[in-house]
Amino acid sequence: MTLDNCSLQIVNSLGQIETQLDYPIGAYTRYKTGGNARLAIFPKTENELKTAVQTLKGFMPYEVIGAGTNLLVSDKGYNGAVIITKNLQEVRLSGNLYIAESGVKLSSVIKDANLNSLGGLEFAIGIPASVGGAVCMNAGCFGKSVGDYVRYVVTDRGTYSRNDCEFGYRTSKFKQEKQAIIKVCFSLNPCESDILEEKIKNYSAMRRNPRGKSCGSVFKNEGYFAGRVIDECGFKGYKIGGARVSPEHANFIIASDSATSQNIYDLIKVIKEKVYEKRQISLTEELVYLGEF
Ligand SMILES: Cc1cc2nc3c(=O)[nH]c(=O)nc-3n(C[C@H](O)[C@H](O)[C@H](O)COP(=O)(O)OP(=O)(O)OC[C@H]3O[C@@H](n4cnc5c(N)ncnc54)[C@H](O)[C@@H]3O)c2cc1C
Repeated sequence: MTLDNCSLQIVNSLGQIETQLDYPIGAYTRYKTGGNARLAIFPKTENELKTAVQTLKGFMPYEVIGAGTNLLVSDKGYNGAVIITKNLQEVRLSGNLYIAESGVKLSSVIKDANLNSLGGLEFAIGIPASVGGAVCMNAGCFGKSVGDYVRYVVTDRGTYSRNDCEFGYRTSKFKQEKQAIIKVCFSLNPCESDILEEKIKNYSAMRRNPRGKSCGSVFKNEGYFAGRVIDECGFKGYKIGGARVSPEHANFIIASDSATSQNIYDLIKVIKEKVYEKRQISLTEELVYLGEF
């Protein structure tokens, strides 16, 4: 490892906050491809996260990372810092309000809310996101989105009620402005646990995630179903290196153990070019890139 004075200076100013130089962020993601970040920071509290952001601002580029289920990291790595929220795990219940720090798994929120006879988010049971990632991306499925159940969001810059979160299809104010989500208050509905349990079972059964390592849907559905369009262009099963268009669902790219991020990126590029050529549709990625491609 080369001596990285800038990172060392940041590590020193962060004091007790957990850090790691030259962190394998690629291996942290669902795809398990891609290189290292110069520095990783693992805040355990709201204050630590705010300190991390303030210390990095204007000094080193940074990204906040949740569960890494929607990320493609360059094989060359990321020349900046990643703030990983996995240690922000506090939850609190107040009436029908469920407040969760950004590192909590969305599925845990749904299950715990259920135990407390509160529901609403069951549709999202199969989304492997952290709370922060789900709200930043306004994740959703079955015609519903996580943002619909948000009361307010606390970030490094302030507190935003739902109307100010600018939720849209797979986007939010926090995504646009790269704000760091610290915690989220969900407004849930009282409901008997048995009924919620049944809903969770039904939604789980309705999901058809193709087998293998993926990031979920690669492209957005913007007035068309990207999977259908890609399928109609003949891509099911198409491979570049270790990356393959799922034969089960053409909007999923599956990475084999030998896949590189470049394989996945090249496959995305070819799909976009061919779909535009054949159908004049400009597909846009839902997946988020980290580093240079
Ligand atoms: C098998 C599978 C199925 C999936 N199904 C769905 C689905 O049905 N619907 C759907 O919408 N998505 C789906 N996804 C995609 C993914 O789970 C979502 O996009 C999810 O919201 C990403 O959350 P994350 O915590 O993994 O975020 P990451 O992948 O870590 O990050 C994604 C983006 O969110 C930002 N981010 C993360 N945490 C924070 C934070 N605390 N503050 C600010 N920004 C933050 C990152 O900077 C990045 O831009 C699926 C993925 C997989 C692997």
